[in-house]
Amino acid sequence: DERIITGEEQVQDTEVELSLRPAYLNQYIGQHKAKENLEIFIKAAKMRNEPLDHVLLYGPPGLGKTTLAGIIANEMGVQFRSTSGPAIERAGDLAAILSSLEVGDVLFIDEIHRIPRSVEEILYPAMEDFFLDIVVGSGPSARSVRIDLPPFTLVGATTRAGLLSAPLRDRFGVLSRLEFYDANDLCEITERTAKIFETTITAQAAEEIACRSRGTPRIANRLLRRIRDISQVKGENEISLQTTKDALEMLQVDRAGLDNTDHKLLLGIIEGFKGGPVGLDTIAASIGEESQTIEEVYEPFLLQIGYIQRTPRGRVATAKAYHHFGLEKKGD
Ligand code: ADP
Repeated sequence: DERIITGEEQVQDTEVELSLRPAYLNQYIGQHKAKENLEIFIKAAKMRNEPLDHVLLYGPPGLGKTTLAGIIANEMGVQFRSTSGPAIERAGDLAAILSSLEVGDVLFIDEIHRIPRSVEEILYPAMEDFFLDIVVGSGPSARSVRIDLPPFTLVGATTRAGLLSAPLRDRFGVLSRLEFYDANDLCEITERTAKIFETTITAQAAEEIACRSRGTPRIANRLLRRIRDISQVKGENEISLQTTKDALEMLQVDRAGLDNTDHKLLLGIIEGFKGGPVGLDTIAASIGEESQTIEEVYEPFLLQIGYIQRTPRGRVATAKAYHHFGLEKKGD
């Protein structure tokens, strides 16, 4: 899936993003609430000379959870270790990582809601009292071994806090929800990225990208990369508004940052189900997408800008969504 405006990380993002990641809190743009919160916890932990409490970061993909986890390690002056829920299949996988940690380390687990439940249980004592309880051997010779761990900080990230089990969620001392960025913040992020790329971009062009990036830094950076290529080929010495608009049209990103998949989803509800309510699975089947992808990747932004509403009987396309297509919603 090479959708240009998904917040999910794509193969071609990985390397570039390494150079774009802010390293410290003061370089991290926006997210004032989360930043302020973390700043206080980090200061307090440093004053007490203790590891930071475990942190859960949640919100849609591409908003800066991984970045923030790295920043936490930098601000604490400790090592950053990283893994992900899907990479941890068995208890032994997690035990190996945990027992290799050093005092104060930050262990980042991306997509933490995808750790198997059976494995999750070994996290509880590890997080709470810094030890592992592992069963060695099997049958009558099986015995439980206790391994002490150095105090560490677990930073978990998830797009779906609701999928986390209560016992796991309760073991995080700091919960931070990342929000979609406003156009000002995205403009600043776009200009910062342009600087790192050593390209010049006009203020209007940066604003245009900001408005069409679905509140998501990863998308703003990706669009900028594509537009920069086009601008360079055209021989521009700075990225102009016209080139930006043309490029976005070519990339089929509309003025609200929506693409064909969004159009299919919205028009699917409007034309196929009279605007809804329609169940998530029904609409997913009708447009050939997975319910989970719609729920985690496409829908959050459409909910945020008020094009879709969630009701007990299913999804509803709002008058605003109709208006986007030049249609009128009857009865509103
Ligand atoms: P997530 O883990 O939530 O999917 P990432 O942390 O990988 O998101 O962020 C995606 C990209 O967006 C990163 O490469 C980073 O450069 C950029 N980014 C995210 N948040 C910010 C921010 N607040 N300021 C500047 N750049 C950001």
